[in-house]
Amino acid sequence: MEKINVIGAGLAGVEASLYLANAGYKVFLYEQKPIKKSPAHHSNDYAELVCSNSLKSKKIDNACGLLKYEMEKFNSIMMEASKESEVPAGNALSVDRDLFSRYITAKIKNHPNITIIEEEVTNLKEGINIIATGPLTSDGLSKCISSLIGEDNLYFYDAAAPLIEADSINMNIAFKKSRYDQGDDSYINCPFTKEQYDVFYNELINAQIASIHEFDKVFEGCMPIEVMARRGEKTLRFGPMKPKGLDYNGQKFYAVIQLRQDNVSASLYNMVGFQTNLTYQEQKRVFSLIPGLENAKFVRYGLMHRNTFICAPKYLNKDFSLRNKENVYIVGQLSGVEGYVESAMTGLLCAVYLRQKLEGKKFVPVPETTIMGSLINYICSASTKNFAPMNANFGIMLNMLKDREEMAKRSLDSLDEWIKENV
Ligand SMILES: Cc1cc2nc3c(=O)[nH]c(=O)nc-3n(C[C@H](O)[C@H](O)[C@H](O)COP(=O)(O)OP(=O)(O)OC[C@H]3O[C@@H](n4cnc5c(N)ncnc54)[C@H](O)[C@@H]3O)c2cc1C
Repeated sequence: MEKINVIGAGLAGVEASLYLANAGYKVFLYEQKPIKKSPAHHSNDYAELVCSNSLKSKKIDNACGLLKYEMEKFNSIMMEASKESEVPAGNALSVDRDLFSRYITAKIKNHPNITIIEEEVTNLKEGINIIATGPLTSDGLSKCISSLIGEDNLYFYDAAAPLIEADSINMNIAFKKSRYDQGDDSYINCPFTKEQYDVFYNELINAQIASIHEFDKVFEGCMPIEVMARRGEKTLRFGPMKPKGLDYNGQKFYAVIQLRQDNVSASLYNMVGFQTNLTYQEQKRVFSLIPGLENAKFVRYGLMHRNTFICAPKYLNKDFSLRNKENVYIVGQLSGVEGYVESAMTGLLCAVYLRQKLEGKKFVPVPETTIMGSLINYICSASTKNFAPMNANFGIMLNMLKDREEMAKRSLDSLDEWIKENV
């Protein structure tokens, strides 16, 4: 039997490792932490959520919600850990990031079939390689992947949002409420008058940015707030600062910034949609102009980061193997999907397919009536021109039904049938 190597113990890597280990295979899991960490990774634990603590919607009529239901059918470790670490967030599944990672790390470290090797991998290992090193894949391995597929430029840029201590938020100004009162009152809202907004807006668009890099390939879904603001005065009020559904005590506001609970003890909140590339000093100065955040303590500032991925439609097969290198599998954000849940799903599904192959079964992809099948189908067959990582959404699903719940039922039924026949 060939040696199975999983490189990277992030969201995708832990799913792949645990699925295969639980199926009885010996797995060698390589992780560069704690020897080396990317600028966004801070913890020594695995499956670290580097920015938001939200795994998005819990609702089955939402594409990312449905994806989570589908993953549960394969005993996803992300889903198991999220149940142990959930924090209130209305219809969204948010977790205490430390509890979440700690839970998964313990499962990995205590598994008799998993051997952990702390090492920055820069070359392929002997045997099967499942590469799950994420959007911040270290330079050495990026070079190795580049030369494998024969392409130089594997990345563009994204941004992450700041994290604030709850005790430092002025609750005489800020208030708790979920938009349109859906779910619990788990968000803290910072309301603006027009005058306050104008001052904040002007300081934001003129503030100093951190990096001297030319961020010419910024990802639309994770755009720095200052870049979005420069598109026009109204852009933020129709985007992350939208006041709709956030009236309070009969008062309407000109704009509102929402803060989302980040840990179980509710001692930390993150700024929703406020990914930024301002210098830390400027983040402190400009974000302290936000009503309610005059004395905010930032436990982590936002930052701009690299986002490495391959052009999946050019290089990837539906079982995640490289078209020109059968024994090399690429999963996670690196494979051309976008988001925590989507990344975890690719690690899990790749392991399911690999097990099929190791057991000598014919490769049969999951049905396209599932959201996981639709997403893989999309990344493997999208246009190669300007390809960007894709998240779970119903727009990529074939044969859409109007009734979302009926469609979700169809997805789960077809997946049950597929599992019965193929796993
Ligand atoms: C700063 C930032 C913010 C993000 N914010 C969000 C968000 O809010 N919501 C969301 O849904 N998605 C977000 N994403 C996108 C994406 O969902 C996450 O990056 C997700 O963690 C990707 O999962 P992954 O398993 O592919 O990689 P990761 O979770 O990053 O795991 C990769 C692992 O590989 C290790 N590694 C890297 N190189 C090597 C090497 N050469 N040898 C050995 N180990 C190595 C790393 O240390 C890490 O543990 C963000 C990404 C970044 C970078």
